[in-house]
Amino acid sequence: MIILVTNDDGISAPALGPLRRQLSALGRVIVVAPDRDQSATSHSLTLHRPFRIHRHEADVYSVDGTPTDCVVAAWYGLVEGPIDMVVSGINQGPNMGEDVFYSGTVAAAIEGTLQGAAAIAVSLVTREVSDFESPARFVAGLARRVIDKGLPRRRLLNVNLPHRPWEQVRGVRITRLGSRVYRDTLVRKVDPRGRDYYWIGGEDPVWETDAGSDFAAVHEGFVSVTPLRLDLTDDAALDQLETWEIPT
Ligand code: MN
Repeated sequence: MIILVTNDDGISAPALGPLRRQLSALGRVIVVAPDRDQSATSHSLTLHRPFRIHRHEADVYSVDGTPTDCVVAAWYGLVEGPIDMVVSGINQGPNMGEDVFYSGTVAAAIEGTLQGAAAIAVSLVTREVSDFESPARFVAGLARRVIDKGLPRRRLLNVNLPHRPWEQVRGVRITRLGSRVYRDTLVRKVDPRGRDYYWIGGEDPVWETDAGSDFAAVHEGFVSVTPLRLDLTDDAALDQLETWEIPT
């Protein structure tokens, strides 16, 4: 059993050590993570420049690229033999609802799924410094379940952990992706040379109250486990679009 651990927070993220220790009970753990914070890089690949891989110690590497680069590098260069599982995280900060489209954490797990491995993306719903020992133990337990039960092809799990002492976590809920109320802003400033520059900003996301969602579970103190599928096809729309008789 080979387990690839990656993330989008970078090789110095505090969750990697506990995760590596806990998962090593299940098999050989290989860490391949970006050399710096690559949060919100989504599923981007580095194609317009070469990138380098740095070996820190046995089975620990950093890549000067994106989370997806890390998974691709592991698959096609660093790891001999099949990678059975990809665990991406534990991200510092939530990855719920539509945010899965921006998330480097989820993208790395998706890349693992595309390559044929069982994959789990895990996020802790806080950006504060946290204790990752109990969350890592939970992830190892979940990984063991995934190994036992298997995941269907092109499916993965997206996990969000509530921010509270682990003894106060109320349990696990299987959830749907929730929905954000968008309040992003584009902040325009002026640099010392008089030219405009921009920050994408906004307050913390506000969520639609939707029972059964990832946000509702985490908000109520549960671990949220959302099964995701890569096929985004809107099956219900297929017949309806046929009726449009789109002209050529
Ligand atoms: Mn991140």
